[in-house]
Amino acid sequence: MTTPRKGMLDGKSALITGAASGIGRAAALAFAREGAWVAAADLTLEGAQRTVAAIEAQGGEAVAIAVDVTDDAAVKAMVAAAVAAFGGLDCAFNNAGIAPYQLNSAGVPVADMEEPAWARMLDVNLTGVWRCLRHEVAQMRTQGGGAIVNTASIMGLVAGPGAAAYVVSKHGVIGLTKAAALDHAGEGIRVNAVCPGYIETPMTEDTMRRRGERIIGRTALGRMGKPEEIAEAVVWMCSDRASFVTGSAWTVDGGYTAL
Ligand code: NAD
Repeated sequence: MTTPRKGMLDGKSALITGAASGIGRAAALAFAREGAWVAAADLTLEGAQRTVAAIEAQGGEAVAIAVDVTDDAAVKAMVAAAVAAFGGLDCAFNNAGIAPYQLNSAGVPVADMEEPAWARMLDVNLTGVWRCLRHEVAQMRTQGGGAIVNTASIMGLVAGPGAAAYVVSKHGVIGLTKAAALDHAGEGIRVNAVCPGYIETPMTEDTMRRRGERIIGRTALGRMGKPEEIAEAVVWMCSDRASFVTGSAWTVDGGYTAL
C-alpha cells in the first residue's frame, strides 16, 4: 500500500456508511483527500463503487462494501471487511439514514403515524447507528482507541412538523452519542455527532419542493448547505486535532437553529 500525502487523517483507516450519496459520499472524498484509507459502505454496492472510483480518481485508496444497517450480521461483516482491507479501524462515520418521504410518512402528524413506518425509521436511523457503533467499538477497543461520528440532524435538537419518527430518531442519535462517549472514553474512543441543517442532497429534494422558500428564509446564511460543508466538520472531529472533543453534537446549519 502506498503512503498517502500529508493530511489531517494520514495513515488512518475510516469506515463510512451511506457513502454512495450526499453527505456520506462527500465525507468519503474528504476523508481520502486528508489521507485516510476509506471503506465506503452503502445499501447499494454500485453506489459505493462509484464513490470508490471517485476517490481513486483523486489518488486515494478505498474499498466498497455492501451493507444494510438494519441487518446486524451484515454490519458486523462490514466492520470485518474494513479491518481486513486496511488492517484496523481508526475512524467511523455512521451516516446512513432515511427521510420521512421514503416511508410515505412526510407531513403525517404524530398521532396518525402507522407503526410499520415508525418502526422502520427507528430501525434504520437510530438502531442502525447503534449496530454500527457497537461493532466499531468492539474493533477499536482492541486497538486502544478510535473516533466515531454519528449523523444526527438539527431535527435532533428541535422538531419539524410532520416528521415525528425522524425527529425522534435523530434526538435518539444524540442521546446514543452522549451515552457511548461516556461508556467508552476510558477505552480511548471518542464519540460525537454532527447535526446538519438543510443540505443539498437527494434526501432534501422533496422537502425543498414543498417548503424550500420558508426554510431558506429562516436560515441565517440564506441558502442550503453543501454536503462538503458537513464533511469538513466530520473530518475534523475524527482527526487528532479534536482530541478533547467527545459527547458533543456539532450543529452545522447555516444558522437555522440560531433563530
Ligand atoms: P442521501 O439519501 O443522499 O444518502 C443516504 C445514503 O444512505 C444513501 O446512499 C442510501 O443508500 C444509504 N442508506 C439508506 N438506508 C440504508 C441502510 N439501511 N443501510 C445502508 N445504507 C443505507 O441522504 P443525505 O442527505 O446524504 O443523508 C445522510 C445522513 O444525513 C442521513 O442520516 C440524514 O438523516 C442526515 N441528514 C441529512 C440532512 C440533509 O439536509 N440532507 C440534514 C440533516 C441530517
